[in-house]
Amino acid sequence: MTIRIDDLPVRDELRGKSPYGAPQLDVPVRLNTNENPYSLPEPLVERIAERVREAARDLNRYPDRDAVELRTELARYLTRTGGHEVTLANVWAANGSNEVIQQLLQTFGGPGRTAIGFEPSYSMHGLIARGTGTSWISGPRGDDFTIDVEAATKAIAENQPDVVFITTPNNPTGNAVSAETVLALYEAAQAAKPSMVVVDEAYVEFSHGDSLLPLIEGRPHLVVSRTMSKAFGAAGLRLGYLAAAPAVVDAVQLVRLPYHLSAVTQATALAALEHTDTLLKYVEQLKAERDRLVTELRAIGYEVTDSDANFVQFGRFEDAHTVWQRILDRGVLVRDNGVPGWLRVSAGTPEENDAFLDAVRELKKEQQA
Ligand SMILES: *Cc1c(COP(=O)(O)O)cnc(C)c1O
Repeated sequence: MTIRIDDLPVRDELRGKSPYGAPQLDVPVRLNTNENPYSLPEPLVERIAERVREAARDLNRYPDRDAVELRTELARYLTRTGGHEVTLANVWAANGSNEVIQQLLQTFGGPGRTAIGFEPSYSMHGLIARGTGTSWISGPRGDDFTIDVEAATKAIAENQPDVVFITTPNNPTGNAVSAETVLALYEAAQAAKPSMVVVDEAYVEFSHGDSLLPLIEGRPHLVVSRTMSKAFGAAGLRLGYLAAAPAVVDAVQLVRLPYHLSAVTQATALAALEHTDTLLKYVEQLKAERDRLVTELRAIGYEVTDSDANFVQFGRFEDAHTVWQRILDRGVLVRDNGVPGWLRVSAGTPEENDAFLDAVRELKKEQQA
């Protein structure tokens, strides 16, 4: 007899649910998970090998539980690029920003508490909420995918959430949220509870605008979360981090597993941070390619949401999933996030983007024929 999930005594809220699952298909052009298309430059690969070799000699010992050297370097990077000075005490790191978000929800959410996001947005916020026993509230977004301050503050006032997620630039739509809007939602959230506001800046390095990092000053309930998965081209590394008031960093340590960041992860991330300038040059290329995708998709006749990220949302389609399949039939994998009428394509190398543009150009011609 085969035992299935529902035969096990799993928690009620997990019954009948599906895990996170962007398809990992083996096709020539993969533009579906917002990864950086460039592999790491060879000198960095060498440096990682060197630092990991050093770390390997001490693998009989537990790693630095507080990741002091790594957090110090992350603070330096944030100070240099984020328009605001932060130190070790303001920064916390974990295995991907997904783990940072999980720790935040374990600390500030949990059973009997609620979190809100403005959807469509990053689906993992809701999934991690569920995993931590936090009730999830789907807040509103306008038809143009911007956050309407009035509707959003009303949702906060009505639901009194314990945690508010604001993703900017937003995934999967690509558009950024202004500092004014974030401040308005922060004020609404403080009036209601007060609650924690998490600004997810996974894509901020690709933005036309500035980081909202300076907003943490004087706002102890505001957290900015970041990742090395996108701009740093290191999705396989699993390194995310946050910047906030020192008390927030102290608080998440109540829930983190001891030695959660392996010595190998810390060594690899430190090597990558030594090569920040090179990595940020790739970001400039990707920004140019992103802008080209927006321009060309509009020229072909598609609707495109303004993008501050390394991906572009395009539409509109009566049946987005069929279009997704037809693009895949041409060897290009894009993402169907389930936003009715829209698909998302990550900016790849110029050649990959050309292949994608050729595919959607053909589709448009067939449609018009
Ligand atoms: C990709 C992404 C992340 C990154 O998750 P990691 O765990 O750091 O790889 C976080 N937030 C958003 C909105 C994302 O799109």
